[in-house]
Amino acid sequence: MLLTNGRIHTMDAAGSVVDSLVIRAGRVVFAGRRADINPDPGEGVLDLCRRVVLPGLVDGHGHLMLLAKARLELDLTSADSEREIAAMVGAAAARRRPDEWIAGRGWDQTRWPGQPFPTRESLDRAAPGHPVALVRVDGHATWASSAALARAGVTRHTSDPPGGRIARDDCGEPTGLLIDMAQDLVRPLVPTPSEERFDEAVRAVIAECLAKGLTGAHEPGLDLAAVASYTRLIGRGHFPFRVFAALSGRKAWGEYRERGAVETVGDGRLTVGALKLWLDGALGSRGAALHAPYCDDPGNTGLILVPPEEVERLTREATSRGFHVWVHAIGDRANALVLDVFEKVLGAVGPRPRLRVEHAQILAPPDIPRFARLGVVPSMQPTHCTSDMRWASERLGPRRLEGAYAWRSVLDAGAYIAGGSDFPVEDANPFHGLHAAVTRCPRDGDDPRWQPAQRMTRDEAVRSFTIWNARSIGREGELGSLEPGKRADLIALSDDIFACAEERIADITPVLTMVGGEVVAGGPPAR
Ligand SMILES: [Zn+2]
Repeated sequence: MLLTNGRIHTMDAAGSVVDSLVIRAGRVVFAGRRADINPDPGEGVLDLCRRVVLPGLVDGHGHLMLLAKARLELDLTSADSEREIAAMVGAAAARRRPDEWIAGRGWDQTRWPGQPFPTRESLDRAAPGHPVALVRVDGHATWASSAALARAGVTRHTSDPPGGRIARDDCGEPTGLLIDMAQDLVRPLVPTPSEERFDEAVRAVIAECLAKGLTGAHEPGLDLAAVASYTRLIGRGHFPFRVFAALSGRKAWGEYRERGAVETVGDGRLTVGALKLWLDGALGSRGAALHAPYCDDPGNTGLILVPPEEVERLTREATSRGFHVWVHAIGDRANALVLDVFEKVLGAVGPRPRLRVEHAQILAPPDIPRFARLGVVPSMQPTHCTSDMRWASERLGPRRLEGAYAWRSVLDAGAYIAGGSDFPVEDANPFHGLHAAVTRCPRDGDDPRWQPAQRMTRDEAVRSFTIWNARSIGREGELGSLEPGKRADLIALSDDIFACAEERIADITPVLTMVGGEVVAGGPPAR
């Protein structure tokens, strides 16, 4: 097929812009000027109508499995108070058997008046008898009802598990809030959806992602049931997307590692090629591991979920089997610890594995140049900055903010960034991320720019969602730009991302999305 009459930003090293592409067998075979090609007679021609075309955007940190699961649970992301959520739980309880679980996701107490953490009492009143487990928007805390705590056997006598905290009232009774590893007391008890329902939800969220301009995602934490689901869908031709997945923590790794080498399914649709570990918690639930205490919680320096020695052992084991390793680190202490671990491991191995720090959110100044020096990739999510700017300074104070969401500093020190959203924590729309990276302004535009010196250029932002993402998984020879030999994953845009007003970047939509040379969303652009 010939795609012509476009403004095609190939995102190659030279930044070439061409008007035509030839695609055969799912790959780009030519990128250049229309005048330089003679299409075969009978070859399809698609007129791009002068649209701007980019390589398909890839979310460098997107939880497809969690987004699919969230679609099968209560969606709490838009709730503005504890009372509103209790009412939603009450309505759900009325539709269920008395002892049936109620699961939900997406609450965020920083959006509520006074920002208090919720307690089990409101859930007990709304749904007495029902075990209820509601996951915080960032996945780092679960709000449970008394019935859920009772099923889990959690009482005042239960001690905090390693890497977790059971919030307690003044009398020592659990309040219902379980932070980080303490969530594992309750979450495994929540029934999982049937294969059919989960597969349907995966198909639906893939369609959403394609319509938003994503042609793939790096999934930081997949369990074996999801690997099986994606594999089933690929077999049926129902997976028009690319996922490069990291196994979710020690449990999934223990079950999977004996399969050995990196596994690719369905002509590059699914690659299980990395191990994801969580070193600390998150800033919103004050579980991110900091060098000095939280400004708004003196005495608390956050949580270490897995001891660094264990991260080191697993990193060596996974890299020796050809897997990449991605370690979640948000706080400055966690980032220093993971860079220490990676420095030790990289000193020992032969061929350099791709090691990534997921989030790299709060960095002490001496750690910023270590990414480029070690060849470790910071995997960062621009919309976390524009969401967290409302309250991050209360947690961190002014001095630590200088190393927070510090894209410019990391790039200027010579590193490249894998860009993502962390959906379902944020919306999967990659144009929201590109907008945040370029403006450091919330989408409603009312707030002033936050630390504007840390902005990316438009070219850097697009690279972070395309070629840099490909490089961060060692697939830059196959993905990330529109050059001959690479897979024909691309999008045509409603507006010119390089020329439109900055504040309009978030409103851009793809009019056409192609994966492997096939139109998977939208259609031929109209004039
Ligand atoms: Zn995540």
